[in-house]
Amino acid sequence: MQLERQQPITFGGDQQVERPIGRSIKRGLLGRCPKCGDGRLFRAFLKPVDECAVCGEDLDHQRADDLPAYIVIVIVGHVLMTGYLLTDMLFPASPWIHLAIWAPLAVLAALVTIQPIKGGVIGLQWACRMHGFGGHDDDTVDPGRGGPSA
Ligand SMILES: [Zn+2]
Repeated sequence: MQLERQQPITFGGDQQVERPIGRSIKRGLLGRCPKCGDGRLFRAFLKPVDECAVCGEDLDHQRADDLPAYIVIVIVGHVLMTGYLLTDMLFPASPWIHLAIWAPLAVLAALVTIQPIKGGVIGLQWACRMHGFGGHDDDTVDPGRGGPSA
């Protein structure tokens, strides 16, 4: 008896729609929904929407936590420290003048970059199906087994 197969045999569970990491991060950086790229990702400065207004994707699963702040510190710290050191080599000035220049610049740079970076982190989590973005319940992780218990 011969069976006619409409689809190729696949192993490893259900086929999942591909979620390109680069595209998802880029959409998050632009403040857009990582799934459709059209809906807004934030309803306030750092407050993500619960679900996308365009495609309905549940974005409540995000757990960006402190990662955006760490990334901002690494990027802004390196850029401003380089700027400070180069400026001090070319135009030696008192520490107070440098403080007056670089401290407000650091605050401004952090405020400008934190929202796009948080969006990028949410896009990364969505693409990697982390924290319930893959359709599983994030609260059912059994620490003894290191994975979802159900
Ligand atoms: Zn969407």
